[in-house]
Amino acid sequence: MVQEHSSIEAFPLSLELTDDDAVLEIVWDDGHTSRHQLDVLRASCCCAVCQGHHPSQSLNLKADEFRGIRMTDIAPVGRYAYHIVWSDGHDTGIYTLKMLRELKNST
Ligand SMILES: [Zn+2]
Repeated sequence: MVQEHSSIEAFPLSLELTDDDAVLEIVWDDGHTSRHQLDVLRASCCCAVCQGHHPSQSLNLKADEFRGIRMTDIAPVGRYAYHIVWSDGHDTGIYTLKMLRELKNST
């Protein structure tokens, strides 16, 4: 079987909103815990709308622009990513497990 997406070893055991729903905490099955502030996560969105198809098209989003942002919905996409819908109406963001794991903890 061909691996369609680059995969990582670890898989999330649990995802939870903490810190008054301002932080997404992910506990991985290898014992690592990721803590991502939602404004940082929103600004890190790597979809075509936010990043364009070329670096020159990037919106250069900054976490400052998303203070107080909330997650409206989060749903798994296969076993490789999560689709996140944001309270600002942005709903094209796919966050791969690899990205969620490699993004530096922001809290
Ligand atoms: Zn986006």
